Amino acid sequence: MSAFTVLNPATGAAVRDVALASVEETDAAVARAVRAQRTWADLAPVARADALRNFARVVEDHVEELAQLEVLEAGHPISSARWEASHVAQVLNYYAGAPERLIGSQIPVAGGLDVTYHEPYGVVGIIVPWNFPMTIASWGFAPALAAGNAVVLKPAELTPLTAMRLGDLAVEAGLPEGVFTVIPGAGPVVGERFVTHPDVHKVVFTGSTRVGTQVAAGCARELKPVTLELGGKSANIVFADADLEAAAAAVPGSVFDNAGQDCCARSRLLVERSVYDRFLELVEPAVAAWRVGDPNDESTEMGPLISAAQRDRVAGYVDGADVAFRGTAPEGDGFWFAPTVVLAGRGDRIAKEEVFGPVVAVLPFDDEADAIALANDTVYGLAGSIWTRDLGRGIRVSRGVRSGVLSVNSHSSVRYATPFGGMKASGLGRELGPDAAEHFTQTKNVFYATS
Ligand code: NAD
Repeated sequence: MSAFTVLNPATGAAVRDVALASVEETDAAVARAVRAQRTWADLAPVARADALRNFARVVEDHVEELAQLEVLEAGHPISSARWEASHVAQVLNYYAGAPERLIGSQIPVAGGLDVTYHEPYGVVGIIVPWNFPMTIASWGFAPALAAGNAVVLKPAELTPLTAMRLGDLAVEAGLPEGVFTVIPGAGPVVGERFVTHPDVHKVVFTGSTRVGTQVAAGCARELKPVTLELGGKSANIVFADADLEAAAAAVPGSVFDNAGQDCCARSRLLVERSVYDRFLELVEPAVAAWRVGDPNDESTEMGPLISAAQRDRVAGYVDGADVAFRGTAPEGDGFWFAPTVVLAGRGDRIAKEEVFGPVVAVLPFDDEADAIALANDTVYGLAGSIWTRDLGRGIRVSRGVRSGVLSVNSHSSVRYATPFGGMKASGLGRELGPDAAEHFTQTKNVFYATS
């Protein structure tokens, strides 16, 4: 296959054919990146900072265009897509502060001066999934570039358009040619080549745990560092002492945002048994009111699933499940699936596996210890929420749940200034936050003898 037809998930109509790069084309891009990186790393830190600020400004000027493109290729509601495009500019702005702050140490030693430097890896390969095509791309490329690396980035086959446009905007903003190259292509061709190419010195992979495990194994063979952001089955834990109205009102956003195609989706709703029935009564109208429809409509909260295959996969999980209630979704063309609330048992497949669709499995728990045990009864450990009015309980449970990103009385997971990433099968390493640029460097220690 030499081209991929991008579809509009809201209608199923073809948007555009995108050529898929070959191994030879990937190698040529890496060779250009190797050359460009030397000049990029040699720039004064303030010059790299200025270039990234400029890139951020150009992205800001194109928020509407990027957002419209994301609506077209990914079916995201326009209000979410605008947030995502602005977020890319913010991530670039944030890491524009990093080149001048990659500070090493001076370590007291006998007989001389000991200094550490944070040196870039060289070329970094970034592999991105289809669920948040431009935001996830920026979490890799912004700090990697800030640290003085060149970046080759492979978007998902289904959603290459916003990443390709960001590649153009980087050049428009004045980044030297070859410093940031977007290479649309197949995972086993371009993505795999990032893993095996001797001049790609670090890989960042976001996607499924299955492919991430293969990528990590390949990187191990090459002794290449790898960051993995993988799947999730996050718990939303509601205690009887919580503000139940607020917790219930927040349920749809916690799991149906981006049609549930969110690695942080709180796809398990764990409710203390004493308030289980009452809480579901409160959740039902919130789910009914969740607005699913035309992504171009400003008031839409949820669009379609990404593809027919994804819709069939999600439907497979709901077949035969104990459905408590559902929201609504448009009929007809496009890959639509109504928000669905399922009553589940602890061993059920739907309570264990990542569905990656607008489906939440509800399970009761007995007490605090049971809630922590149930939340941890998964191979994943990405995100989660805890709803309680008891501060001590909020602290104890947040320390007890084995997840990388938790929130108490909120569902927020992503802020560019705070670290993001998973434990267990949800990943390795962290993105975002104050330390991300340093993760794209290697520490060099030099001892200068003075006698
Ligand atoms: P996927 O693993 O199928 O694909 C992800 C990317 O890897 C794509 O670009 C794909 O082309 C590429 N790829 C496929 N085979 C490859 C190979 N052999 N070598 C190298 N690259 C290869 O995942 P997906 O279906 O695109 O995305 C959904 C998954 O991503 C879900 O499991 C979701 O939880 C996860 N995800 C995780 C995070 C996070 O930050 N933890 C964020 C978003 C999505």
